[in-house]
Amino acid sequence: MTTTDPSAPPQVFARYLTVAGSALTDPALAVHITVDVTDSRHHETSTLRPGRIDMWGRITCTGCHMSTETCGGNDYDQEDRESMSAYLADKSRPAAQAHAEKCRAMPGQ
Ligand SMILES: [Zn+2]
Repeated sequence: MTTTDPSAPPQVFARYLTVAGSALTDPALAVHITVDVTDSRHHETSTLRPGRIDMWGRITCTGCHMSTETCGGNDYDQEDRESMSAYLADKSRPAAQAHAEKCRAMPGQ
């Protein structure tokens, strides 16, 4: 019995205001760090063994809508989920910061 709602928005571990967000003092323009978790129970074609998960750090920019995986891997233990999430989020920080420092995308563009 799982209590995780797959439609729930992912947890945002950190936000970096973009250049445009700073200029407009709009906190909505930011790079968000999240962690993707693929649970083998939800993917029939997965090659994962039962109870194992894939985890990937992801950065998503609300200004230019860029979204990319930064780091991560396959076949983690469920028990490692929390500590790995924190680790992957931390590892994603340089990429998020680098994008935020050069992203000038404005809303509606
Ligand atoms: Zn951007």
